[in-house]
Amino acid sequence: MDIMQVKGRVFDIQRFSIHDGPGIRTIIFLKGCVLRCLWCCNPESQEYDVQTMVVQGKPKIIGKDVTVEEVMDEIKKDMPYYRRSGGGVTLSGGEALCQPEFAVSLLKACKEFGIHTAMESTGYADFEVIKEYLPYLDVYLMDIKHRNNAKHKEFTTRSNELILENAIKIAQAGTNLVIRVPVIPTFNDTEEEIREIAAFAKNLPGVKELHLLPYHRLGQDKYEGLGREYNLAHLEPLSKERMEELLEAAKSSGLICQIGG
Ligand code: SF4
Repeated sequence: MDIMQVKGRVFDIQRFSIHDGPGIRTIIFLKGCVLRCLWCCNPESQEYDVQTMVVQGKPKIIGKDVTVEEVMDEIKKDMPYYRRSGGGVTLSGGEALCQPEFAVSLLKACKEFGIHTAMESTGYADFEVIKEYLPYLDVYLMDIKHRNNAKHKEFTTRSNELILENAIKIAQAGTNLVIRVPVIPTFNDTEEEIREIAAFAKNLPGVKELHLLPYHRLGQDKYEGLGREYNLAHLEPLSKERMEELLEAAKSSGLICQIGG
């Protein structure tokens, strides 16, 4: 089948993003995720099914089936910006590993047009699936949320074992891998927890960078819009000073560390 005709399900395409990879980027948000992180700021991404979410009092359909060609038509509009800024395309979600045929075809199409590619992913899939993505990815932005399995399960509903195993395999495959840590109060916001994750990242072959992503509550209204409860409403975002302290803890690993990204 022609890769341009492969269909997938997305819920948003954001142009002119300066996050989630270098330069000016177009972010493609894919539907579906296997985890259920309590802090998820895109709860409308989690179910693969098309849903209705109430946004500012009005129902909005979340999820649309599109071909790679249709997505590429959007992506190509910003080619001059990618070139000038060193930017490109980032697959996000949801979890792009949940739609392998579509995601890999989209990455391949980007590479055919010489576009830089990145993927935000938690790495929760069979490595045989992940392997298919790697030749078409310039950077893999991988979340490592916690080293402790019980705590990982409690806050995300899934074990961290597969994620940690895959991080090693992705790094060993020579991927340009950047480790990201969503820093969530009461989950992983102690120096010890951040140091443990950073030490794990430091041991991954070739990994040089670690990004700490501050917790925020910007997705809270979406839970209401989906008729769901947001269970972390009691948590305050960490102060800038506290994030700086955790950054210092991460830096003790010897990695290049930053807040955000
Ligand atoms: S992995 Fe990402 S998209 Fe999936 S539930 Fe967690 S925060 Fe949300």
